[in-house]
Amino acid sequence: GIDHLSDLEKLAVLGHGNGGTVYKVRHKRTASIFALKVLRFDQNATGIRQQAVREAEILKLVDSPYIVRCHAVFNSEDDLCFAMEHMERGSLHDVLLVGKVLNEDIISRVALRVLKGLHYLHGMQIVHGDIKPSNLLINANGDVKIADFGVSRVVVGERDAYEAYMGTCAYMSPERFDPEGWGGDNPDGFAGDVWSLGVVVLECLVGHYPLIRYGEKPDWAALVCAICFGERLEMPENASPEFRNFVRRCLEKDWRKRGTVEELLVHPFVNKSCCGSTAQGMVDFCFQ
Ligand code: ADP
Ligand code: MG
Repeated sequence: GIDHLSDLEKLAVLGHGNGGTVYKVRHKRTASIFALKVLRFDQNATGIRQQAVREAEILKLVDSPYIVRCHAVFNSEDDLCFAMEHMERGSLHDVLLVGKVLNEDIISRVALRVLKGLHYLHGMQIVHGDIKPSNLLINANGDVKIADFGVSRVVVGERDAYEAYMGTCAYMSPERFDPEGWGGDNPDGFAGDVWSLGVVVLECLVGHYPLIRYGEKPDWAALVCAICFGERLEMPENASPEFRNFVRRCLEKDWRKRGTVEELLVHPFVNKSCCGSTAQGMVDFCFQ
């Protein structure tokens, strides 16, 4: 195991994000490579500290092949560090950024892994809350795993500081913008993770964020409008019936009618994948 932060040597920066930086590090004694996420705290950044503590609590609970493993957490006065499994191929966002449009075989494999990860998390009463391409990481084998529990929360029946989070909302479900939507009968928000998966799946086939016209730079209000009221679903002409139906089940605006994780786990779209694409296929396709 990793006993001290000083056992780790920084090699490179892997990514930046909300309140922190992720480094590629080497464990000096064993030469093993890890990813170290460092969340820094200013005196007045209590929000970041709260987020970090929540993230640490959740990471301690999760252990699944569909979720990026956290091996150790180091807490100090000005920062909180997570030593995580290194995902060598970066994020799905990086793949999409270089203009790759994925094929349905590969997308269905990604979708199935995310669904299995969500099934695991939801079973532990954890809502991820931030499923999007930059939080889906790929390792050297081509396995996709869910990362970044910065806004995740354990459901306790009540709304919590969650609503304070107003970061990237492009992948958030309509009910999360609805002040009523979190009332009484929707206390959990599991359905929001399914919506986000639907946006990601569609984006993989379309090649760009799918809920607004390509090239448009909407302000926040226009984006929220597209999510909550937009009827336009740019479904690629070549999309299979299974793909179309899967995306429609995820992007059902009314969360009560939306597909559940259990339903989607047995959906024909993701069950074609057992025979089709492999992890190696993902590597060959995305990184050739
Ligand atoms: P944030 O909350 O700041 O978004 P993330 O955990 O999503 O933090 O990390 C930000 C970026 O750092 C990711 O999009 C990815 O590019 C990179 N990254 C994070 N974790 C890892 C990891 N375990 N292995 C490789 N790269 C990672
Ligand atoms: Mg992130």
